[in-house]
Amino acid sequence: MNIKEKKELNDFIIEHSSNIRQCAYLTNYTLVNLSCEKNLSHKGRETAMQIDVDHKYLSFNLCYGIEWAESSWKSKNYKEIIITLCHEIAHIVTTESEERLNIKSSNSEIEYYYERLTELTSRWLYNSYCTFIDRHKINLKTGKSK
Ligand SMILES: [Zn+2]
Repeated sequence: MNIKEKKELNDFIIEHSSNIRQCAYLTNYTLVNLSCEKNLSHKGRETAMQIDVDHKYLSFNLCYGIEWAESSWKSKNYKEIIITLCHEIAHIVTTESEERLNIKSSNSEIEYYYERLTELTSRWLYNSYCTFIDRHKINLKTGKSK
């Protein structure tokens, strides 16, 4: 992936994440840093994207796995990246409870249902975002309104 393509990919992620936040009424949260890693893993498992939310300062950082993003981008599988973005943004809604309720240090069953809640939230969000894309005539490749 050359520099121009990499910039297009980053702009795509920035634009869509901004739209998704608008769709989810989360515009008070701002994306501070977008980065990528060669082998992104979370708890020993390979993951496509990861979010780090700061609820005190209403901000978040996103990190994506470069190999996963590159192959989705090159095969024009924008939908897959958008679905993943919806999942990470759903974490903005759920992480605060996770932190407050000490879910990280609790048992795996609670952790399982926490992740499940995030996943269900993300599917609702993705569904709403598809309507949002049509309504605002958003170009899927750029994330910008036509
Ligand atoms: Zn998750």
